[in-house]
Amino acid sequence: MAWSDVRGHELTKRVLQAQLAAGRVPNAYLFAGPEGIGKRRLALEMAKAMNCLSDGSRPCDACTTCKQFAREAHPDLHLVVPSGASEQIKIDDVRQVIGRVQLRPFNARLQVAVIDGADRLTDEAANSLLKVLEEPPAGARFLLTTSRLAFCLPTITSRCQILRCMPLSSPDVQSLLVEQGVDQATAASVAPLAGGSVKAAQELLERWEDRRRIASRLAGPPIAGWFEQPLPETRQDVAELLEEMTAWLRDLAVIGAAGPSHAAHRDHAETLVRQSRAIDVERCVQTAMELVELRESLQRYANPRVVASLAREKWLSLVGTS
Ligand SMILES: [Zn+2]
Repeated sequence: MAWSDVRGHELTKRVLQAQLAAGRVPNAYLFAGPEGIGKRRLALEMAKAMNCLSDGSRPCDACTTCKQFAREAHPDLHLVVPSGASEQIKIDDVRQVIGRVQLRPFNARLQVAVIDGADRLTDEAANSLLKVLEEPPAGARFLLTTSRLAFCLPTITSRCQILRCMPLSSPDVQSLLVEQGVDQATAASVAPLAGGSVKAAQELLERWEDRRRIASRLAGPPIAGWFEQPLPETRQDVAELLEEMTAWLRDLAVIGAAGPSHAAHRDHAETLVRQSRAIDVERCVQTAMELVELRESLQRYANPRVVASLAREKWLSLVGTS
């Protein structure tokens, strides 16, 4: 895997390549951005590039170091991920890495610690890491990632160069899904709804049939769609309904403003165009916000059946019975 194989993140990759070329690599980076967009992939690529033995462009992907880093099997690469039921990074995990990075690199240029989920460090682990970030050993670099920057200790973030990573493009998500064995047609339908996150796309795929069923209900005639079919009853199914309805309303608003090519529900573009002509965009946005509130009330243990029925009312009031 070379830089070009890391999807998206063009600006971030340029910054990293420029720092490598200039020999100005900071002691610590923090890659911040939504989940499932390839932040760990970027960090590992940078770890490999920092240690590549080539005199030309790095990483070369041909030297022994590159190959070992690519397999995540180099003795100077230390990858730390959250573990256990609480999905935290505990002090013992951090202490072990800190002990290693104090030593000279085994056979690479630098010892590299990749801490994937800086927001998951326990307080003790974060304080332990902080000490080493304050006085980093000369031969060590730290690459941290987070999808929740606000949950990271400011004393840690202030010692890192923060690289803000953007969601992937829909075509990038689509091609990554196809590489993972998803068929082209499904990948093309799922990717635009995933918000640029491969993880979100994978989660969507797990409940894709449910989402398609809800989309058909929203696309169909309101009376038939909503009164001849039962409403969902479980918390999970109602959450799914609200999520799909919100995505549908987002499409209606987007089509009104920017045209059908921007719709995420490609399979329903004609229906969306017809519906968008019949509704008021401001009310559409208002309804979407109300659905978000309903979702929050569902998380606070509101009765799922009541929430589903309220969602139906809001939808029918928006689209009428046409
Ligand atoms: Zn190399």
